[in-house]
Amino acid sequence: MDRLEKLCVEKGMRMTDQRRVIARVLSSATDHPDVEELHRRAHAVDPHISIATVYRTVRLFEESGIIERHDFRDGRSRYEETPNHHHDHLIDMKSGKVVEFVDEEIEALQNAIARKLGYKLVDHRLELYGVPIEE
Ligand SMILES: [Zn+2]
Repeated sequence: MDRLEKLCVEKGMRMTDQRRVIARVLSSATDHPDVEELHRRAHAVDPHISIATVYRTVRLFEESGIIERHDFRDGRSRYEETPNHHHDHLIDMKSGKVVEFVDEEIEALQNAIARKLGYKLVDHRLELYGVPIEE
């Protein structure tokens, strides 16, 4: 069983074969696929999986907190397995490539800002949008 499938079972989710395929596709993704891409990959494994099923399943997974939805401003929701360790994203506006990064200084600064405003930081999202520097 892959990680996502295990989490589903732990959460008491009823795992159909189709859900299992979609969970596996999400678990093995190293990018941040949208529903259409997820459907393409799941469909290659089981041609009976419809896009409606993929929509419903990702919504279910998202609601249970095992996957995260991102909006990288291209009008499509993107999904990834909720990571064990937090990371932020840089979006290459030319190619659409998504680069993951962690920066301890930014993490500390965000905590300091929240504290200064009288809050304990529990979560944040940071997206950087850039184009490659031509040299
Ligand atoms: Zn990511």
